[in-house]
Amino acid sequence: MTNIFLGIGGNLGDRHRQMRTAVAEIRKVLDDVRVSSLYESAAWGVSDQPAFLNAVVRARTSLEPLELLDAMQAIESDLGRVRKQHWGPRSIDIDILLYGSQIIDEPRLKVPHPYMAQRGFVLRPLADLAAGLTLPDGSLVGELLTTVSQDDLRRIEGPEWA
Ligand code: ADP
Ligand code: MG
Repeated sequence: MTNIFLGIGGNLGDRHRQMRTAVAEIRKVLDDVRVSSLYESAAWGVSDQPAFLNAVVRARTSLEPLELLDAMQAIESDLGRVRKQHWGPRSIDIDILLYGSQIIDEPRLKVPHPYMAQRGFVLRPLADLAAGLTLPDGSLVGELLTTVSQDDLRRIEGPEWA
């Protein structure tokens, strides 16, 4: 079993429902699932779109990294995600942030997630669950959090949302 962290987010349709359904599906596939508080964040990258809901999930799994990616992409498809625009609107996005302390650099899978250290909407919920966690490069989540903007980020529910 490996400890893993996922970033989940969505900004289309009934966002709360999509997020809760995503976590319910994740609970079917992974073990010892815990969720962060729920956050709302202004859209990142492409800004002319609705605000996102974001959260981080912590879990354990015996799935290999690419099996985990397949399982999470299956959940994205089940939830009706249509792949149109990179960084564009989506009903649900599930990113693998961390897979134990492994560094993975494959065409389909980069871990740690390449942008996680720059994103308040990832680091803040990740810090809820594991502020003392160290990334494979030695950086501490709680310290990274102090280096990013949280201006567009709002905590809207505690960890009981899912
Ligand atoms: P983004 O999350 O960057 O907005 P997508 O969710 O559409 O974009 O992902 C595009 C591709 O990113 C996926 O098909 C997947 O193979 C790849 N990918 C690379 N690393 C990861 C990761 N750590 N977690 C999820 N997908 C990843
Ligand atoms: Mg993604």
